[in-house]
Amino acid sequence: MPRRKMMRDFVRALRLVQATDGRQHAHQLVEGLNAAAAEPELEGDQAEAAAARSRDDKGWRDIAEILLTRAPGRLGQLSESACGCFNVLAGASPATFLLGGAYDEDMHGGRIHRDVAGLAFTSPAGYACYLLWKIREEEALDRVKRCPQCQRWFVDETRNKSAARCSAGCTARWWDRSRRRAARAKSRDKRMPRRRRA
Ligand SMILES: [Zn+2]
Repeated sequence: MPRRKMMRDFVRALRLVQATDGRQHAHQLVEGLNAAAAEPELEGDQAEAAAARSRDDKGWRDIAEILLTRAPGRLGQLSESACGCFNVLAGASPATFLLGGAYDEDMHGGRIHRDVAGLAFTSPAGYACYLLWKIREEEALDRVKRCPQCQRWFVDETRNKSAARCSAGCTARWWDRSRRRAARAKSRDKRMPRRRRA
């Protein structure tokens, strides 16, 4: 294989890995935000579970509030006051460094210790803070968006970060609605001169 071709392939592969890595945290954040926004599916008398769930969701909802303060067209930036809110939330949700806790299996099914480096969070809010911090560090904050059609959070995977809605389905629904609205406005305009004449 010619050397130049090999280099090009390598560079492309490297970019692919970086892009995937950068968005992995954005996908995790979006998953948490959508789960916290959904109504809990609890049956019967599960008040305790509901209270725990609402406590867990609070951190994600606080992060959602912070994201919603971003100005349209400047989704990659958080204001000074939004950063202040984040710092308060992060300060109350500590994380700690962790080694180990992971195992491989040997041929007899026995556990082989692995010294994997990880982080442990005392609350879901800590994990939510970590993801937002990580995404900001990776300059991928402007890929985290909320669909104005269905209100779900999504990761904008388009090359130029131009997606306005989460899916083709939502764009079709939006297009239908805006087209109906335009048609209504048009027929209203047509009626207006007639009314003036009468
Ligand atoms: Zn949508």
